[in-house]
Amino acid sequence: MVADTQGLPFRVVVLSGPSGSGKTTIVERLIRESPIKLVKCISATTRPKRIGEIDGDSYYFLPTETFAARKAAGEFLETAEVFGAGYWYGTLKSELHRAQVAGGWAFLEIDVQGALRVMDEYPDAVTIFLEPPSIAVCEQRLRQRGTDSEETIQRRLRKVEDELQLAHRYRHRVVNDDLHDAVQEIHEILRQQSE
Ligand code: 5GP
Repeated sequence: MVADTQGLPFRVVVLSGPSGSGKTTIVERLIRESPIKLVKCISATTRPKRIGEIDGDSYYFLPTETFAARKAAGEFLETAEVFGAGYWYGTLKSELHRAQVAGGWAFLEIDVQGALRVMDEYPDAVTIFLEPPSIAVCEQRLRQRGTDSEETIQRRLRKVEDELQLAHRYRHRVVNDDLHDAVQEIHEILRQQSE
């Protein structure tokens, strides 16, 4: 049973984890089962849509010019060019507002660069870094996923190493060696924040 946040002050929850850390599955479980109502903020991106992705659900897929114009207009809380491949990602301020209006905590699943900016803006954000058990496991998961070219896999793996260097900036670090345990650990972190 998912509780609501009635009576609790609005909070921002940030989860980051390198590619292959098992983030996607964890995020789905958290949104469904969290002891506190979490509203996932839908990011905007300029990267092309993958098969099965839905605009306005997976991401807001924006043309580069539209993204740039909205950035210039101050609509983003943070933006980042995530894999150095020329694609931009960003959190729209309107998404945080949507979460607040819906009576939940805003849940952001963003990269480390973006998370550092959110920490500046919301110093009391609940920040969680999801660690893979090892780089080898990340590589294995990326290959199993089968969606990326060899070049992309190599780029993502280099980013894993960079991101691990910044994991200490997060308030909480959770190792994902067992899905169930990792989800329970994050539930516990959220529960403590609501006390
Ligand atoms: P994808 O595999 O969907 O192309 O890329 C996912 C990567 O982009 C992940 O590292 C994810 O955390 C990051 N990401 C997704 N949305 C945002 C966002 O709004 N801001 C930032 N900074 N990173 C994002």
